[in-house]
Amino acid sequence: MQWFVSGEPAQVAVGVEGPWFVLARPLTRWGGPRTELQPADRRQFSRDDLLWLPEVVVEAAEAIAARGRRSFRWCRSCRRAHAPEWFVGAAGTCRECASVVDA
Ligand SMILES: [Zn+2]
Repeated sequence: MQWFVSGEPAQVAVGVEGPWFVLARPLTRWGGPRTELQPADRRQFSRDDLLWLPEVVVEAAEAIAARGRRSFRWCRSCRRAHAPEWFVGAAGTCRECASVVDA
């Protein structure tokens, strides 16, 4: 499945597969130079849903984005918001910044 991600940090992922599309909460796993997308909270829709019930689809996307935004944490080093999986435990700096310090 091909995923498209919207928001910075990523808030909503949209996957398209045949007549279906899926809205999901992107869980980005810190993986060195590039992060890996692990979609969670999937909700599947058909193209007809988008055609006839666009407000339901928009609502679902909004709910996913809001849940994602609530979980973001602030890195005191790079001063950017990241998804919680970018942090180790209660650390105040993200893994990206921590890995630069370690290197
Ligand atoms: Zn950072």
